[in-house]
Amino acid sequence: MGEFIRNCRLCRKQMESGPFMMCTKCLVESDRIRSFITKNPYVSVEEISLATNVSVEKVERMVDLGVNKNNYKRKSKLYNL
Ligand SMILES: [Zn+2]
Repeated sequence: MGEFIRNCRLCRKQMESGPFMMCTKCLVESDRIRSFITKNPYVSVEEISLATNVSVEKVERMVDLGVNKNNYKRKSKLYNL
């Protein structure tokens, strides 16, 4: 068996296996998003994107993955679980 390579759950880039499901860059970004959402739980994805400098697409993916599920009450559209 070769080395165990995983892909980041957010940007899909290959990364070294480790305790996290995201690469370092995405971890930093998700942290930024999380702290923003903690202070502003009712903002839209677009507002999060602007405030954190993370692309809308990526913010959406984070929300869909449940990275910030506990804090974030998404207001723009309902998602199916
Ligand atoms: Zn990533």
